Amino acid sequence: MKILMVSSEAVPFAKTGGLADMVSALSISLAKLGHDVRIVIPRYYSVDRSGLTLLPDAMGTPMGGGIEEWSAVYTADMPGSAKKNPVKVYFIDHEIFFGRDGIYGSPVETDFIDNSRRFTFFCRAVFQLCRKIKWYPDVLHSHDWPAAVAPVYLKFAERVSGKSEFKNTVSIFTIHNLGYQGIYHKDNYDYAGLGWGVFYKAGFEDWSMLNMLKAGLYSADKINTVSPNYAEETKTNEHGFRLDGVLRYRSADYSGILNGIDTDVWNPAKDKYIPEPYSIKNMEGKAKAKEALQKEFGLPRSADVPVIGMVTRLTDQKGVGELFGPTYGSAWSICRDMDLQLVLLGSGERWCENEITGLASRLSNFKAKIGYSEKLSHLIEAGSDFFLMPSRYEPCGLNQMYSLVYGTLPIVRSTGGLVDTVENFNEMTGAGTGFMFEQLNPSSIFNTVGWAVWAWYNRRQDIEKMRKRAMAQDFTWESSALKYVELYEETRLAQGIK
Ligand code: ADP
Repeated sequence: MKILMVSSEAVPFAKTGGLADMVSALSISLAKLGHDVRIVIPRYYSVDRSGLTLLPDAMGTPMGGGIEEWSAVYTADMPGSAKKNPVKVYFIDHEIFFGRDGIYGSPVETDFIDNSRRFTFFCRAVFQLCRKIKWYPDVLHSHDWPAAVAPVYLKFAERVSGKSEFKNTVSIFTIHNLGYQGIYHKDNYDYAGLGWGVFYKAGFEDWSMLNMLKAGLYSADKINTVSPNYAEETKTNEHGFRLDGVLRYRSADYSGILNGIDTDVWNPAKDKYIPEPYSIKNMEGKAKAKEALQKEFGLPRSADVPVIGMVTRLTDQKGVGELFGPTYGSAWSICRDMDLQLVLLGSGERWCENEITGLASRLSNFKAKIGYSEKLSHLIEAGSDFFLMPSRYEPCGLNQMYSLVYGTLPIVRSTGGLVDTVENFNEMTGAGTGFMFEQLNPSSIFNTVGWAVWAWYNRRQDIEKMRKRAMAQDFTWESSALKYVELYEETRLAQGIK
C-alpha cells in the first residue's frame, strides 16, 4: 500500500511529545513490511535544510479568498529506515507560516495567533504535494489537530468526483491527545476555501467556534486512538474532553491500537545506560542496576529492600497531586510507614517540584532528582523493583511498558492504556504483571503500594514469576504496525476499494 502520514511532528526532525516518536516508528515498521510509506511535515525553522534535497519548482496551494500560497518542498530519507525501501519525508517550506522559532508557539506567544491558518494551509498543501510528485496514496493517515483538516479536504474537496486522483484514497485519523483540539475563532474559516456549507457538514462548528480536531473526527473514514481502553473511555463524559458525543456518534468507525516501544533503545539486553545487560535467562544485571541506582541516589545499598521508581512529568495528569499534595498527599506516609526506598526523576509544575524537594530532605528513604535525564530514566527502569504510575488519564503510556520489559512491576491506576498493558496481581493464582487500583486518591495509592510491598516480603516467588511474565511480553512496533495494516485494509473495504 501507498501510505502518507500527515503530521506536525516526526523525530528526528521536529518533536514536542510522543506523537513525533510514534509517527516515525510506525512509518519505519510499515516500510519494513514492504509498504511505500511517506511522511509530510512542515519545514520549521529548526529543521536544518543542509541535509535536505530541494525539489525543483515552487508549489502553489489554492486557499480561500483567491489566495495562492507558494512554498518550496524539501525531501530526505528517514534515518533508521531500510536503505532499499526508505521512508521518504517531505517538508513543506512556507516562510511566513513556518519560518520562525517554535512549532505551535514561543515563550511569548504560547499558541501562535495564526495557528489555524498555518495548519489549514499545511493540510491543503499535502494534496498539492502528491500532485507535484505524481504519487497518490491509498491511505492518508493524519495525526492530531494540526493534521485534522486533511481528511476534510479529502472528503469535501478532493474525493468529490469519480475522476479525482484521490478517488481511491481512504483516510485514517489518529488521536494522540484529545485535550488539544485547535479551537479558533470562526473568522479563520474563510481561508480554508471550503465554503460555509462544509463548516457544518464537516463538523467544524463548535459553539460558534472553529474546532479543527472535531472536523477531522467527523470527516475521516476511520478514527482511532493509541490504546483500546482509552478508545472506550473517551466515549464517556469524564474522559471525552467535550467530544465524547462525537466519538459515540462515530463509534462504529472508532477503535484503539496500542503504541509500540522502541526495542532498540528500551531493551535490558542491550541497554547502554545500565551497568550490565540482562534478560529473563540471566537476571544478574538487574541486581547490579539496583545497586547502581541506590548508589546514584545516595541510598543505603541493599538487595532486600524494595525500590520503587518514578519517571514522570510533574503535572496533574500523572496523579502527582494525590501523591505529593501538601498535607493530603500519601508519599509522606508511604515512606514513613513502609520498609521501602522511593526514587523519582521528574520535572514540571513548580509547586510539585518544591514539595518533592522538601519531602526528600525530611525522609531518608525518598530521593528525587528534578530535571530531565535520558540516562537516569533507563537506570530507574532497570534498577527499580516496582514502578509507580498513578495517572489520572493515560492515552497509552510508555513508562509502564518500559517497566514491564525491564522486569520492574508497575503499580498503576487502572486507566487508559495502563489497563491494556498491565495485568493485576491475583493472590490466589499468582498471575499478573503488576498492581492496580481504581480510584485516584491518596489512600488508594498508599494501599496499593502497601500491597506490592507486602507481596515483596511475603510472596517473593510470585514476584519473580510476575517479573518473567512481564519481560516476555511483546510491545514491539512490528505487532502494532500489523494492526494498522488491518485497519487500513478494513477501511478500504468499507469504502468499496479492493
Ligand atoms: P507522557 O507522554 O504523558 O509524558 P508517557 O509514559 O507516554 O507519558 O511517556 C513519557 C516519556 O517521557 C517516557 O519515555 C519517559 O521516560 C520520559 N520522561 C518523562 N519525564 C522524564 C524525565 N524527567 N527525564 C527523562 N525522561 C522522562
